Amino acid sequence: MKRERKFVCSLLGLFVLAVLLVSFRGSIVNGAEQPRKNVLFISSYTQSFMTVPDQISGIKKEFKNQPINLDMEFMDTKRFASDQNIKNFYTNLSFKIKNTQKYDAVIVGDDAALQFAIDYQEDLFSQIPIVFFGINDKDRAKEAAKNPYMTGIVEETSLDENIQLARKFNPTATKVAAIVDDTLTGKGDQKQFETAMQAFTDLDSIILNVSNYSFEEFAKVLEKIDENTILLFLSMNQDNTNHYMEMQDQYLFIKNHTKVPVYRASIGGVGEGLLGGRLISYEAFGQIAAGMVLDVFAGTPIDSIPLLEETPYYYFFDNQIIKKYKIDEALIPKEAVLVNKRINPLKEYMKYIVTVGVLILFLGCVAIILIIDNIKRRKIQRKLQESNEELSMIYEELAASEEELKMQYGLVEQHAKETDLLYQKYDIAITSTDSAVWELDVKTNELEVSSNIQNIVNKAIPIRGDFNYVLGYVIHPEYKEQVFNEIQNCIMGKKDEVYIQVSDNAQDKRQRWFLIRGKGIHDKDNNLTKIYGIVLDTTSIIEKEEYIKHAASHDYLTDLPNRLRFMEVLEEELKKESSGAVLLFDIDDFKSINDTLGHVYGDELLKQIAARIRNIQDEKMYVARMGGDEFLILLKDVTDNQIVDLYIKRIKKMFSQVFMLGGREDFIHFSMGVTFYPMDSKNISQIIMNADTAMYKAKKSGKNSCIYYHEQMKEELKSKKKVEAILREAMKNDGFCLYYQPQIEVKTGEIIGFEALLRLKNHNISPDIFIPIAEERGYIIEIGRWVAKEAIRQMAEWIKKGYPEKMIAINYSGKQMRDKGFINYVKGLIQEYGMKPEYLEIEITEGIFFENNTQTLDFIKELRNQGFKIALDDFGTGYSSLYYLTYMPVDKIKLDKSIIDKFLEFENNKVMESLILLAHSLNLKITAEGIEEENKLIKLKQNGCDYIQGYLFSKPLIHMDLEKIYNNNYKNYCAIN
Ligand code: C2E
Ligand code: CA
Repeated sequence: MKRERKFVCSLLGLFVLAVLLVSFRGSIVNGAEQPRKNVLFISSYTQSFMTVPDQISGIKKEFKNQPINLDMEFMDTKRFASDQNIKNFYTNLSFKIKNTQKYDAVIVGDDAALQFAIDYQEDLFSQIPIVFFGINDKDRAKEAAKNPYMTGIVEETSLDENIQLARKFNPTATKVAAIVDDTLTGKGDQKQFETAMQAFTDLDSIILNVSNYSFEEFAKVLEKIDENTILLFLSMNQDNTNHYMEMQDQYLFIKNHTKVPVYRASIGGVGEGLLGGRLISYEAFGQIAAGMVLDVFAGTPIDSIPLLEETPYYYFFDNQIIKKYKIDEALIPKEAVLVNKRINPLKEYMKYIVTVGVLILFLGCVAIILIIDNIKRRKIQRKLQESNEELSMIYEELAASEEELKMQYGLVEQHAKETDLLYQKYDIAITSTDSAVWELDVKTNELEVSSNIQNIVNKAIPIRGDFNYVLGYVIHPEYKEQVFNEIQNCIMGKKDEVYIQVSDNAQDKRQRWFLIRGKGIHDKDNNLTKIYGIVLDTTSIIEKEEYIKHAASHDYLTDLPNRLRFMEVLEEELKKESSGAVLLFDIDDFKSINDTLGHVYGDELLKQIAARIRNIQDEKMYVARMGGDEFLILLKDVTDNQIVDLYIKRIKKMFSQVFMLGGREDFIHFSMGVTFYPMDSKNISQIIMNADTAMYKAKKSGKNSCIYYHEQMKEELKSKKKVEAILREAMKNDGFCLYYQPQIEVKTGEIIGFEALLRLKNHNISPDIFIPIAEERGYIIEIGRWVAKEAIRQMAEWIKKGYPEKMIAINYSGKQMRDKGFINYVKGLIQEYGMKPEYLEIEITEGIFFENNTQTLDFIKELRNQGFKIALDDFGTGYSSLYYLTYMPVDKIKLDKSIIDKFLEFENNKVMESLILLAHSLNLKITAEGIEEENKLIKLKQNGCDYIQGYLFSKPLIHMDLEKIYNNNYKNYCAIN
């Protein structure tokens, strides 16, 4: 640990030292003191003139850290070129020199200043070294250099070198153009250009003199300059309108109006739109001149320093312009200075990157050391934890054994408590429950019972004494022997224990039950000496058992045995191989009693019936409620019809008395089926089924009828089931079709309509058979809707085919009354198929009125309101009350075949005549149905019958056959008189 920390500290120290080294670098001071010299710089211009700041910077650079005082004077000859200005300058300077110090050297910049120095050397600078630079007039410079106190550098712009450079950049150039003006400088520039161009005979030279144009016109001139032209910017100060343009604006102007790089041989404009070129270095001028002064100060005689005829240059370009004109960068001299160059951040910030890198490296090292340190610490911690865990495990083990000890102690304590509790429980059991303890001494026969036996038997009795004596007080005498035997068996070892259920000897009160239990105690010779036991009051248990047994086998409502119990009894009889009869009956219209009076009255009726049956019951008769409104009667040991008939008589009598239901008197009818066993069947379920079949038959044959089962009924049932299956299949798989039977108007012989009659497509079963089954099973609702739809659809199809619209009649079963949506359904159909409602006739039978009179009336009225026609079918088969006709809202009566046969059989047709008359008087039309013979037609015509339907004209036909007779006229038949 310590070692690591030391290492970290030393690294930190190193880092701090490095930082200090970097920050203090370069601040080491140069030292020895020398006497200060005074130098004067005279500039021909002003401090703000383009070239001057560089010159001053060059001088200052060279004089840096030297004991020199530099003074500067500016002649401003550019703006004030007059002699007066020179004179004023002289006066001023001479005043200053005479009143301050003498100068040790003078530097003069440009021609005007040199001239001034020459002119006033004697007066102002006598025997003082004078160094000049930037002298354009070579001759003047050479002259001055002859002076023993003067030396310096000449200035020569090298246009030719710039042109050469431009040719390298643009080898396809054919022309060189120079921008000049008419100012003195501009003229000088033009002259220099023309001189330079003498070296380039292969290139055309063009002078672009701004003073010949306005700046606007000149802009256009510049814009026309093409890629083959090398363009030099020399001077562009004034146009022909004497408009003067500032330098900064000139650069911008050129930039905006040229498409070629613009070369510059002197300072200004590079970085502001001009490409640049080989430029005079004014800074270098200053530096060289200052250097010459320093040489003189160092002891070199001034006249030994020769005139420098080589002007210092440097290359200066705008990097963005290079890029813009795609100048090959390889051609740019390496030493060239570039402006607008994007700085490489890596290079630029190398110092910082290195510093940050070192810092990161250092921090990384520190982090690694810390991590290593951390890992070691954790290792130690883990070891510590492990040993700690080991310790606590040992501690826990110790604690556990202590806990175990405690637990064992607790167990002992608990056992003690439990034993105590058991004793208490025993006490409670004996004293406060319905039990007592007894003890019998086998040898002495003495019985001792705990005193609470008196609570159990609910009287005061002796609790000790002879076995028989004590027992006599407790149990019913009939159990005495059984108890005695049970005890003997136990004594003799035949049974392990005494276990016997006995009843008490009280006859007048509620019978009580006891369970006596006991076990023998043996002595050391294994002789049974005593029996200990308990007496338990089991009355309520026995009662509950009895109740459950009873409830399981009895009907809760009537308390008659239930179907299950009945079957058990029947089974016993069958086992005994005895013979008998099973009677099954149910209440007619029980459903409507329930529906109209409510279930309470329905239940009440069943209870009353049960009570009446009990009254007529004898030992041969076993009665049970089968369920619902069905009752089963078993007549044991009866083989004779006549005896059964006697019982039936009794039952009929029983029903002949009026029932009181809900405060009103009601006669109740029943239907009964009877079957003999084992004659009809030995199988219990089959026996009941047989009775059911017979009862079903009885139901169809009127009130209070009883029918004996016979074999044939089974067949009927079977075929009924078959038809049911066929109907179901037909409903599922489009198995129905309609036949149509025409109805003929007697007067005209015309077919006025058709009755639609239902058929099964794949089975030759008459509707007289399958319709009742469909009604019974409730299928008629679905089938009835199908018939309505198919008949209406067919009529619509015929009309579509061009047949004249005729009436179509459909049969409506009373059982369809349950289809509450029927009227709306048919309404929807006639709308869907665009049929007029008066063309649909609905045939009802008077049976429909039996069900629910008012409801039926409303229904029929509603049908008529909708515009449908109503025909009363099968008139003459049932009640056929003429009275019905007075209030039944029907349009037509269909006389049944049977009534026609009956009344037209003989010559006497008076009845028929008056019947038709009556109907007509009630505004009803008459259709005679089932007419096969001509003579009947004649008679019916004579009697005024309106329509005829029968085989005489046509049997019911399938639609395509019917189409053949659709428009037939039977006038010829009807004409018969
Ligand atoms: P219904 O309404 O009395 O129909 C007339 C029955 O008499 C038809 O028997 C018809 O074929 C038959 N018939 C017609 N002319 C003569 C004739 O000159 N001589 C004889 N012997 N019989 C003739 P079908 O088609 O067997 O229908 C029997 C019954 O089935 C119908 O009696 C009707 O109550 C019922 N039914 C038929 N189709 C339907 C139906 O679509 N719905 C309902 N609910 N019942 C229908
Ligand atoms: Ca009919």
